[in-house]
Amino acid sequence: MADQQTTSNTWDSCYADLHIHIGRTSRGEAVKISGSRDLTFENIAREASERKGIQLLGVIDCHSPVVQMDIEQLLENGTMSELEDGGIAYQDTTILLGTEIELREPEMREYHMLAYFRDLKTMKSFTEWMERYMKNVNLSSQRVYVSSLEMQAEIKARGGLIVPAHAFTPHKGIYGSTAPRMADVLDTSLIDAVELGLSSDSSMASYIQELDQLPFLTNSDAHSLGKIGREYNELQIAHPSFDEFSMALKGEAGRNIKANYGLNPRLGKYHRTYCAACGSIMDEQAMSAERCPYCGSTKLVQGVLDRILAIADRESPHVPEFRPPYHYQVPLEFIPGLGKAKLRQLLEHFGTEMNVLHRTSEEELASVVGPVLASLIVAARNGRLELSSGGGGTYGKVSGKETD
Ligand SMILES: [Zn+2]
Ligand SMILES: [Zn+2]
Repeated sequence: MADQQTTSNTWDSCYADLHIHIGRTSRGEAVKISGSRDLTFENIAREASERKGIQLLGVIDCHSPVVQMDIEQLLENGTMSELEDGGIAYQDTTILLGTEIELREPEMREYHMLAYFRDLKTMKSFTEWMERYMKNVNLSSQRVYVSSLEMQAEIKARGGLIVPAHAFTPHKGIYGSTAPRMADVLDTSLIDAVELGLSSDSSMASYIQELDQLPFLTNSDAHSLGKIGREYNELQIAHPSFDEFSMALKGEAGRNIKANYGLNPRLGKYHRTYCAACGSIMDEQAMSAERCPYCGSTKLVQGVLDRILAIADRESPHVPEFRPPYHYQVPLEFIPGLGKAKLRQLLEHFGTEMNVLHRTSEEELASVVGPVLASLIVAARNGRLELSSGGGGTYGKVSGKETD
């Protein structure tokens, strides 16, 4: 256990990814149907701890009773243990018990909300309440037929944390899908943080005034083990636990979010508006067009950037003082030429992906994978890889060329 004094630098950069799905239970029961089969509670913990180097994880399908059976078994057989100040410990990694919920208000489109609870007992009490208002409590991201305000009250009554998920994506993000203001739907005083999602960043989100008070999180929304840590946060906390995480969100006692690490929004799959008829992505040109400039169709699907500009209540983004830096970073899996074998070599030498991305010099990298890949990894680390925009559910691409 790390020392618990409250001075700064109590922890040498704790990396946190707080949106990871469960694909199946250890017995093979489906939880997230589209998630991969090996995405079990135990495998997630092991992957994060041993390969990724992520010390704080949010697994957001822990409301599911079949997942809770897995957790209980891991606690009973001593593989994991519950921490005094909240969360489940596995080696040097802590897992926060979370859930992703779908909500819908009358006359509006649906959106997703994340909630985290301190311990398994509390999560189970939440499940007991929630299952009465849904069709299948075992599955991931299901609709709960209650109002948003009632849901917030039930989460807060159990000491939970509330985070609207992938807020700007057209696919079930609160701004992207539901309303131009969170205050139209939610009690914003009961929101603990907002998850930006893969196609936006802090600066883009700073077009909206009601977000000025709220911390931003950048998470992977992983549906497979490899995607864990695709986006993540760097926290300043004494050790990874629920209480420390909660303090970091509030900026209490020297705890805070030190940085957000995410894809350049241009790489996200919903960044720009695209034409559903011909598939063209509207990049710099024709941003506000009502018809596709390539085929003339009006079937345009609004991208994240275009949506933010449409609902902005400012002329230009205003980033508040307390907001930490948002670092564009290309995940290792996007780097051209860095296949499975080379990645394995890197992990053998440097331990974890976080070590490769943050703690290893170019010379050290070059000694293992050669100078070309080493320089691409360093370019990815610094956000200097050339990109093309994503849109319409397709990720943008890394060209392999470096920019200045
Ligand atoms: Zn979602
Ligand atoms: Zn999700």
